[in-house]
Amino acid sequence: MNIQQESISQTEVERDTTDMLIGNSFVGFLMTVFAFSGLVFFFGNDTPSTFTLKLQVWAAMVCVSLIRLVDALYWRINLSGKPYNPRPALIRFSAGLYITGSIWALYAVLFYSSMATVELAATMIVLAAMAGGAGTVLSPNKHLVSFYCTALLVPMSLCAITDNSGKFFILGILGIVFWFGIFISAFRYHRFFVSTLHLKAKNNSLMEQMKIERIETEKVNKLLIASNEKLDASNANLEAEVERRTADLYRLSNKDPLTNLLNRNGFLKHLNNLIDTTRALENTLALLFIDLDGFKQVNDSLGHKVGDVVLVEIAARLRNYTEENHLGRWGGDEFVAVIPYANVDTAKAVAHAMRSGVTIPIIAHDNQVTLDATIGIAMFPAHGDCAVDLIQQADLTMYDQKRKHRGSIGVFSETLHEEIKREQRLCERLRSAIDNREFTVFYQPIIDVASNSLSSVEALLRWNCDGEVISPALFIPLAERSGLMPEIGAWVLNRALIDLSHWQFKSGLAMSINVSVAQLLDDSFFKTLDSALKSTQISPERLYLEITESVFATDTELVNKRVNELVSRDVKISIDDFGTGYSSLNRLQSMPFNFIKIDRSFIQNSSEESDTIIRATLLMAKEFGCKTIAEGIETEQQKLHLSQLGTDYLQGFYFAKPMSANDLISWYNENYS
Ligand code: C2E
Ligand code: MG
Ligand code: MG
Repeated sequence: MNIQQESISQTEVERDTTDMLIGNSFVGFLMTVFAFSGLVFFFGNDTPSTFTLKLQVWAAMVCVSLIRLVDALYWRINLSGKPYNPRPALIRFSAGLYITGSIWALYAVLFYSSMATVELAATMIVLAAMAGGAGTVLSPNKHLVSFYCTALLVPMSLCAITDNSGKFFILGILGIVFWFGIFISAFRYHRFFVSTLHLKAKNNSLMEQMKIERIETEKVNKLLIASNEKLDASNANLEAEVERRTADLYRLSNKDPLTNLLNRNGFLKHLNNLIDTTRALENTLALLFIDLDGFKQVNDSLGHKVGDVVLVEIAARLRNYTEENHLGRWGGDEFVAVIPYANVDTAKAVAHAMRSGVTIPIIAHDNQVTLDATIGIAMFPAHGDCAVDLIQQADLTMYDQKRKHRGSIGVFSETLHEEIKREQRLCERLRSAIDNREFTVFYQPIIDVASNSLSSVEALLRWNCDGEVISPALFIPLAERSGLMPEIGAWVLNRALIDLSHWQFKSGLAMSINVSVAQLLDDSFFKTLDSALKSTQISPERLYLEITESVFATDTELVNKRVNELVSRDVKISIDDFGTGYSSLNRLQSMPFNFIKIDRSFIQNSSEESDTIIRATLLMAKEFGCKTIAEGIETEQQKLHLSQLGTDYLQGFYFAKPMSANDLISWYNENYS
């Protein structure tokens, strides 16, 4: 117990003591007044003076008792049962008791000598009875009980002991023994009473403490509940926030923001899951790799905004043929779709439907755009065991299909696989072909129709790979795809110009060299060209560069810049394989070229349609002010026909096949010297 609690329980003990003393005092007052009155008035053997004195003492006793009664009543009415300060009440009670005790003692001492034997005995009995009662009632207070019992018994007993007659000696001794007995038991009561009160006070204070602690606990509980509720609420908020962020993260990492289709990452995850299920069910699925044809031109010519609208529309159309989560945007204009439980025929049917969906014209920002799609199909498990493999096979199939025939559908096959593997092997070999001296340049004469003389030769690259001569039609596109063309092209340019500088043919013989788009657009192109021209001392007008029509499908601005730089160097430009590509009249007009080479497919096809195309080309060339070359002349008839139509130059097996530099010299000497 702390100090404050101790003082509280002390006050409580005092209050309980006072309550006990005053609460039990009412009977005591009554007993006192009755006993005193009995002793004063009952015997009637007093002298008048003694009686008068007794009356005075009686009156004092009655007065004191009345005052004490009033005080006790005041306590009962106003203080009892309340948390009052017990000290003043106790002091008043003690004072009253001390006075009462003193009057009793005075009475014994004053009137002992005047008492007859009976009165004396009766007085002794009354005092003993009163002391006996007080021994219990006043036991809560040690001092009061001691004083009161002593005041009641001791004076009377001492008077009896010291009485000269000696008759009452025993009575006196008995009185003292009785006093002593009362004293002992009163003290015992007192101890018991005090410890009970202390226990009660302790109990009360414990109860109080428990009450306070219960209230505190309830308060803390309430606070805890409130903060728990807050915590719950903020937890709920946090959970919602986490959910929202998780969804955002999922969207960011799995969805394509433009089309809202799955992106690469999302599609790969989804495809892997589907593959697992399909494998478990021993079923099949088809993977479609869809590449748009003509999208690049839309983007280049109409801008990215239109391009975006087109992509969103295409995505919406593709959604019509498969479930949304089976569709993904793989990159730029590439889409992927998976068709669960499909066989090859179903996959082809869906691919055809998708293609026809794509080919419907799209209106984007007031522009009408018409696209097509090339689609590659790979099957699980026949063509690949995992998502990455399947996509790769479908992509390769699409790519191969695009090379062969844009806007078509192809299914992956082992042959294609073999072809691709061969290509990869060739590609590896191609990288070291220059160092291994596996390249040679052959030359094919180009004849001037007017003078029937050798006007120029076309340099045509040959690759001798392990004894097998591989066609440039096969390895040039391969070199372009693997980024080797600038290096190979530079080698051809140097070789051809060196050979030309060594030849002793008629002066002014020109050299026609094929230049691929990748080579023309490469940063090193002009450096190579200038150094080759400089080191061989060949004048630029004797160099004709043949560019295929595919150049029109690429970066317009850069192509124009490069062509203009060639013109500024006086190098001549030929449009090769004319009629097979995408040249628009508009682009042709803007291009300062010098020759048009009519593709051999038109020369060798004797249909009227081809003839019309040749005539139209000749007419157009005349309009543009450039010369024409007919490729692939194999017969006398073709030679005569093309000459009559007005072609300026002829080239073909009829005159000579492409041949090595040495063979060309022999050929020249045979025919022109
Ligand atoms: P091209 O530039 O159109 O070359 C003409 C092709 O037609 C040559 O095939 C030539 O051998 C062939 N040819 C010529 N006259 C006749 C004929 O009367 N009948 C038939 N059937 N064919 C004839 P080649 O040498 O196989 O070259 C194929 C293509 O490879 C070339 O077509 C050219 O586009 C490309 N190429 C060849 N060498 C190079 C090169 O060094 N650089 C680049 N970029 N491409 C080259
Ligand atoms: Mg050519
Ligand atoms: Mg050609």
